[in-house]
Amino acid sequence: MVVSTKVIAVIVTTKCTLRCKKCVLGIPYFKEQKHDTLENIISEIGSIFQIYDFVERVDISGGEALLHPDITQIIDYTAKFKEQFGSLRIISNGTILPGAELLSLMQRHGEQYGFLLDDYGHLSPKIVRTQELLKECSIPYKVNIYHGENQYCDGWIDFGDFKYRGYSDEQISRVFQNCHTSQNPCITLFEGDAYFCVRSMLGYKFGHYDLSAVERIDLRQNHQLLAINRQKAATFGKYPPVGCKHCNGFDTQNSARFPAAEQL
Ligand code: SF4
Repeated sequence: MVVSTKVIAVIVTTKCTLRCKKCVLGIPYFKEQKHDTLENIISEIGSIFQIYDFVERVDISGGEALLHPDITQIIDYTAKFKEQFGSLRIISNGTILPGAELLSLMQRHGEQYGFLLDDYGHLSPKIVRTQELLKECSIPYKVNIYHGENQYCDGWIDFGDFKYRGYSDEQISRVFQNCHTSQNPCITLFEGDAYFCVRSMLGYKFGHYDLSAVERIDLRQNHQLLAINRQKAATFGKYPPVGCKHCNGFDTQNSARFPAAEQL
């Protein structure tokens, strides 16, 4: 059995330079914003590449990933698994410049390693200089424009609060099937676990419900449970996560859009 997926997002920190009201990771709503430790992050990455044989893309994210004091060591460690992923991106909001050591490391990895820059206009004061630096170092990058008219994907969506929606089974199935997450899975690594859906994870983390056994993998137990965890990963996305009962869904065709990065 080959286990593969499209995207794995590694959340290295919940510290951020912005306080976005509709942040998909709910960053401003965590009681405490903190960096995960280098040791934990390395352990998560090592475990996930035992479970997955191949991942199309790895996203290193936050919060603001560049705030993490060990970001260079984290990126350096990922190179151990270079054969198991197609590309890697650091996601940044254009508020902090990447350091010289990080740029040099990224440059050494050529086309495989790059950046995704979210441009929030006046909220991203370092976005232009960051692009200049990346160009100078020939590091690939993409910019998503999230200000003014014509925002990327027409802006952000709102998953709503975590109240139970009372959907019928048929409605849950429809919400899930029409959701961007079910069509484009992004497995999220956060504080020692891997989750099928980041929104479903948030409701669990904030204490609104428990998750089912098939939508979270405890990476700390990976050595003993590798075969089971690989099986779980292979079934990720086959069933709606518990969070769907508490979510507006992310229907790319029909969900209302909102201006990105409105600040609290
Ligand atoms: S909880 Fe369900 S509907 Fe909401 S984003 Fe996740 S998969 Fe989509």
